Amino acid sequence: MSPVIGICEDDAALRSILVRGLEDEGFAVAAVGTGREALQRFGSDGAPDVIVLDIGLPDADGRDVCQALRAGGVTAPVVFLTARDAVVDRVAGFRSGGDDYLTKPFALVELIVRLEALLRRAAAPEPRTAVGPSSSLVLDPATHTVSSGTQHVLLTPTEFRLLGALARDAGAVVRRRTLVQAGWPDGATVHDNTLDSYLARLRRKLRGLGSSETIVTVRGVGYSLQ
Ligand code: CA
Repeated sequence: MSPVIGICEDDAALRSILVRGLEDEGFAVAAVGTGREALQRFGSDGAPDVIVLDIGLPDADGRDVCQALRAGGVTAPVVFLTARDAVVDRVAGFRSGGDDYLTKPFALVELIVRLEALLRRAAAPEPRTAVGPSSSLVLDPATHTVSSGTQHVLLTPTEFRLLGALARDAGAVVRRRTLVQAGWPDGATVHDNTLDSYLARLRRKLRGLGSSETIVTVRGVGYSLQ
């Protein structure tokens, strides 16, 4: 069976070039134009083998879409597409759980080489450090809300990214450094007590949501969503 490539790119012309080019190479392609559609189509049930995700989407930041997919249990590797001058985006792409990036404009053959490398890597058994189940919280990257059952609460972008990093490894301890990189992807200097106060606020919001999941402090190491 041909590997399925999920594409989320809002530029219709680029999207159709990618669809045609990848289909010519024998891939099956599922293409969408917004972050919301990406979550609907690429959620854990119908996850593609690799996802190509534009960072500049009309309704969400592609990095937040990736966080939300990961929190929902999607483990497929992600190739981020970034604008040429967005150097900061490149770095942040890796830190939000993505696996590779490509700067626009790029040659189709370059994308194909990367997709093939990621597919090979995904096929090889890889020891996992965290084996906890993914979270039951649902993260919406377009509105930065988190839902549990019928309840939802609005988060700030930083709170959203911190929760995303915790939820994708729910049950495991996420180190403080990893949380800082996820919450402040542009590389700001963040003091320990700043991180702690964000987590305290996030914990209160989850409690207000009536979620059974809570953020546990692992002193000197990090935090864990349990
Ligand atoms: Ca775009």
